[in-house]
Amino acid sequence: MKNLKTKMPVLFVGHGNPMNAIEDNEFSRSWIKAAKSLPKPRAILCISAHWETDDSTCVTAMEHPKMIYDFYGFPKPLYEKKYPAHGSPELAASLQKIVRKAHVQSDFDWGLDHGTWAVLCRMFPKADVPVVQLSLNRKEGAEFHYKLGQELKGLRREGVLIIGSGNMVHNLGRMSWEDAAFDWALKFDEQLKQLILSGDHASIINYKSLGSAADLSIPTNEHYLPLLYVLALQEKDDSITFFAEKITLGSISMRSVRIG
Ligand code: ZN
Repeated sequence: MKNLKTKMPVLFVGHGNPMNAIEDNEFSRSWIKAAKSLPKPRAILCISAHWETDDSTCVTAMEHPKMIYDFYGFPKPLYEKKYPAHGSPELAASLQKIVRKAHVQSDFDWGLDHGTWAVLCRMFPKADVPVVQLSLNRKEGAEFHYKLGQELKGLRREGVLIIGSGNMVHNLGRMSWEDAAFDWALKFDEQLKQLILSGDHASIINYKSLGSAADLSIPTNEHYLPLLYVLALQEKDDSITFFAEKITLGSISMRSVRIG
């Protein structure tokens, strides 16, 4: 891929409820607004909470990724939503070349899961930017994911928009349909915000030592790990801005970050 002078920002998007893909609400509106302020990317690389693989890190390498409706019991229009973005075997190959930390395997079976398309259908509704997904290797710890993220740095100067899609606070077991935030969710969300602003990535990687609010906020880490890829790409001169800063359903933080 051609090397461009401008450095693409990096995003972490709190995706939350899949309905954000089709509902006009404060979150979908904030995603649309965030996308409007971005330079047009040549391609998008998404690290979604919803693609975990067992033994290796995989990258989608097909020309036409299929839609994956990986949720249950939602209204029919959500299952009818289409996002016909192309893949980019070229980006997949260039990623495989630059990553040293792992042997990244080409994948031809996955596609676009809702962690990716529910966000992108709002941010890039024309589906005219090719999309590639990178999986989360379940066997590896937080530090591995952060370091793998660092190796993707060069892609920012090739016009690739890297997006981590998850939720900083994500506890489905404690979820409440009354839209009030639990104290521990507010506490950890704020703590994480301050750690991000102060650049204390070591504490964010070692989230298991951050106390009981962190334990409740990250019962499993698949929605948290995409944040590590995004922070790993931060460079000294990058600004940090937040959007969609809100706890929803009691235990889900929609806080999203733009770096650069
Ligand atoms: Zn999710």
